[in-house]
Amino acid sequence: MKSIQEKRPHNKGSNKFGIKLENFESYEEYSKACSKARDLERKDCPKRIRQKRYSAVKRWYGITPEEYEKYEAINTCYLCGEHMDITKERKVLHHNHKTNKVYGMVHDSCNLIEGIAKGNPDKLRKISDKIKKDNSN
Ligand SMILES: [Zn+2]
Repeated sequence: MKSIQEKRPHNKGSNKFGIKLENFESYEEYSKACSKARDLERKDCPKRIRQKRYSAVKRWYGITPEEYEKYEAINTCYLCGEHMDITKERKVLHHNHKTNKVYGMVHDSCNLIEGIAKGNPDKLRKISDKIKKDNSN
């Protein structure tokens, strides 16, 4: 079996975080270590991160940093109406993928459910009714 170094010859030496691929058993472990290092680096520079986010939301949704700050301060999910605790779950901007119109902040999971159900909301209701029925038995 090929070693990870042989499989990824371009990953030679250490990367910008001083992490060497050859020191890891798998590429996944190496990748995790790199993500951790990247997160730590970002924490050291929150202003830069914020600026990046601002320009991204401006580009994606056409909203100003002030508007984004207002959305970010919202702690009630636009979709389910429940409280959002960011220590438990990420909150995300819910928007129309065609028009890019922003609706509000939502739980990451609610956004995922909405994304899946969008094409067929009646099916989501049927599934929800079935879950309720099964839980009551
Ligand atoms: Zn929600």
